[in-house]
Amino acid sequence: MANIKETDQEYVANTYARFPVLLERGKGSLVYDDAGKEYIDMGSGIGVTAFGIADDEWKAAVTAQLDSLQHMSNLYYTEPCALLARELCARTGFKKVFFGNSGAEANEGAIKVARKYAAEKKGPEWFTIITLWNSFHGRTLTTLAATGQEHYHELFQPLTPGFVHAHAGDLDEVKKLALENKAAAVMIECIQGEGGVLTMEPEFVKGVAEFCAAEDILLIVDEVQTGNGRTGALYAYMNYGIMPDVVSTAKGLGGGLPLGAVLIGEKAMNVLGPGDHGSTFGGNPVCCAGALSVLRRLDDAFLAEVRRKGDLVRAALGGAPGVENLSGMGLMIGIKTARPAGDVVAKCIENGVLCLTAKDKVRLLPALNIPEDVLMKAVEIIKAACAE
Ligand code: PLP
Repeated sequence: MANIKETDQEYVANTYARFPVLLERGKGSLVYDDAGKEYIDMGSGIGVTAFGIADDEWKAAVTAQLDSLQHMSNLYYTEPCALLARELCARTGFKKVFFGNSGAEANEGAIKVARKYAAEKKGPEWFTIITLWNSFHGRTLTTLAATGQEHYHELFQPLTPGFVHAHAGDLDEVKKLALENKAAAVMIECIQGEGGVLTMEPEFVKGVAEFCAAEDILLIVDEVQTGNGRTGALYAYMNYGIMPDVVSTAKGLGGGLPLGAVLIGEKAMNVLGPGDHGSTFGGNPVCCAGALSVLRRLDDAFLAEVRRKGDLVRAALGGAPGVENLSGMGLMIGIKTARPAGDVVAKCIENGVLCLTAKDKVRLLPALNIPEDVLMKAVEIIKAACAE
């Protein structure tokens, strides 16, 4: 550990405040450090390893693809890319998919779709994207501009212009700012993940969707963290009975390999043409083969299990000593703790559980297939850490 920690600190850009743990291997929801200590993984790489570490089915899909074709340029057709796009559309009703490599890149793509759609339909002055205060949409200069948290902006001016923030829950403000600023799109997370696992009210989400439809302003839902079964629905917007015009997704979709996607609905399906957008690694066959195996397993029965396991966690932690409240949906869970969240997480690491924070909360994003007994063992350790 000492060696690797020093090497990392000497050579890796100092952008992450790492915990003093060196993880070497894992299986499912269990991971092991260099001393062989076992941890229950309640963070799944921030919602990425949807089926845990080294899942057999995912690994089989990925390795079979590795054996035949690991990469080809987007100048040619490849099967996993086409089949994954078809599966995503069949499961959602979207019409076209653009593939990239990350959440930020998916949001960049979504924003480009909205700007081109609005420019062609209404004129080039319709470029503003309305996003919400406290949102998180990524780290590129454009997705930082979209992110409604000013402390991320300070050191990197000037950011991409054309982003205006409204308060979550304030439908009148969204409408006013969208019309005043000639908005191309409104972009929201149904649950603000990095913002503290804050769930949007159904009336607000529905109201935004109805307003966008009436004004022909695109509704983009950022499902980077909430998507791919995380909330117990395939995508979180499905919990709200709305149909966005564009969805961005990443994280869990690839199951542990970098993959992002922009799902484009009927209105904007023909907006992107040859040369309008691209990505060297976008639609990479290995990533897409893994994602296809992930998506095919997220059926109704599996999603019901995600909701049931989320309910078990909520029942165990609700009202427990040191737990002030719970938020989120399915297996995306925020815990407002009486003690500082960082202290709870540190205690959990000591006792063999890896969990995350989000603002002032402890955040749980376990693998969606975490076995119930492992999940509840972790919950007991978290509960004890909250109670201290
Ligand atoms: N959007 C949301 C809602 C996110 O939670 C994140 C990452 O946490 C991103 C976008 C950025 O994703 P990435 O880090 O893959 O670029």
